[in-house]
Amino acid sequence: MKERIHLAQGDLTEFLVDAIVNAANNSLLGGGGVDGAIHRQAGPELLTECRSLGGCETGDAKITKGYSLPALHVIHAVGPVYRGGHSGEAQKLASCYKRCFEVAAQNGLKSLAFPSISTGAYGYPINEACEIALRTSLAQLKRFPQIERTIFVTFSGRDLLIYAKQLAEL
Ligand code: ADP
Repeated sequence: MKERIHLAQGDLTEFLVDAIVNAANNSLLGGGGVDGAIHRQAGPELLTECRSLGGCETGDAKITKGYSLPALHVIHAVGPVYRGGHSGEAQKLASCYKRCFEVAAQNGLKSLAFPSISTGAYGYPINEACEIALRTSLAQLKRFPQIERTIFVTFSGRDLLIYAKQLAEL
């Protein structure tokens, strides 16, 4: 399963994959961080489609087209705000990743690129979030053999090293 997981450092909006995952908020109407970057690159039609979706629950994900992005689609996933770890954050973050794979499989997608959901403005500690991201994704890759390639894209070199270390340990 691990051979279908790849790590990269860079700007998620530049990746040519079937879908990039957005670390969105409940409104799906755009925000800062990776969400802002995705909307800027995709152009205004993305916001128009997002308005038609009626928001998204924390732990869930919804798909749109990619518009001017190289990626064909965007899967908008809503991660939890970290409030100390005793408010169901781990379960909600795992659910986010799981739902992304389910939505991808339902739409016949074969390649996905993820940001590190919840670890920016939402404050989730990177080590814990990374372990959830990798463990959940491995389980979903087992479930969905048709998903050939999953890339975890980190903005910082420090985050990339954390992903690399944890992937090696799994
Ligand atoms: P959240 O609100 O879910 O915490 P953020 O967008 O604030 O989402 O941050 C999630 C992660 O995405 C952070 O590690 C941040 O550094 C990273 N990030 C921000 N912009 C980009 C980008 N263009 N490409 C890849 N990662 C990004």
